[in-house]
Amino acid sequence: MGDLKNTFSWSFSAREDFDECRRRRFWAKYAMWGGWDAGATPLQRKAYQLAKMHNRFSLLGNAVEHTIRKAIRHAQQEEMLTADTLYQKYTRDYLNAAWKQSRDGLWQTNPKKYICLFEHYYGTDATEEQQKEWIAFIARQCRLCVENFIETVLPRLAGIRQDDEVSIAHVGSGGDPESFALEGHKIYAIPDYVYRRGDAWFIHDWKAGKQKPHHRDQMLLYALWARTQHKVEPDHLTLLLEYLSLKDSVKIEVSPDLLDQTVETIQSSISEMADYVFDGDLKRNVPLPQEDWDLAADPMTCRLCNFYELCKPELDEQVDR
Ligand code: SF4
Repeated sequence: MGDLKNTFSWSFSAREDFDECRRRRFWAKYAMWGGWDAGATPLQRKAYQLAKMHNRFSLLGNAVEHTIRKAIRHAQQEEMLTADTLYQKYTRDYLNAAWKQSRDGLWQTNPKKYICLFEHYYGTDATEEQQKEWIAFIARQCRLCVENFIETVLPRLAGIRQDDEVSIAHVGSGGDPESFALEGHKIYAIPDYVYRRGDAWFIHDWKAGKQKPHHRDQMLLYALWARTQHKVEPDHLTLLLEYLSLKDSVKIEVSPDLLDQTVETIQSSISEMADYVFDGDLKRNVPLPQEDWDLAADPMTCRLCNFYELCKPELDEQVDR
């Protein structure tokens, strides 16, 4: 496994990491490589483990996605489960299992298989009372998202059969997640739910939290995936951001010009990333030394970063200077 090549790839989250903190991209893409292997160095192993770490917000999103997939399957079998039944049957078990895996440290045996939560790993200043409130908040938000999905989104999916769905390789479903090629580079694009009605394609993304400006860019990336990978032109595409906790569905406009702009944005981001590999050669993809990847300019960024443990000695030095 350690001999696999660490090929260059681009994704929305990679760009976010890179833009926010160069060093984070170094840990997440390069230092962690091979960290799963028995012969890995302690640094590789630690970077790999930290790269796999979740937090309570990603846990919330994953639990909601998991439950929605089940709700859709049940509805396709004409089993209309209530939000409460879905929550009890799927969401609660998912949350409890993840919380327990993390609290009991199962991830120490396999960080890919078992969840480690930032809140358990790093601890926080939160009191026991505040921690209980987080747990209650996650449970409440999950329940609200599932209820609103059943009430407002599921009816719009009536009549969609499994055969109408476009198969998406999600993270954790085994194999390489969904991607497409742009000028020879692998671009990851993993929409939540896609189906066809005749020539029309519909791409939905489930959001458990509030609206953020970058969600629109993410949907345009999915449109680019549909055009590149499946030859679906923008006039046959409907992009829908489903803000489940807000009971809001936002349609994102898409056009050939907007997709051209998306391509330019990706090209420009890739070009910046190429400055951090030897000779700018993304085919070889050999990173510059660790010290060339700057630490975050704003130390506040580090407070919620998975890789804090690895940067702490340097961050402390900066404070002492
Ligand atoms: S801890 Fe700070 S400097 Fe280190 S990777 Fe995270 S954001 Fe960057």
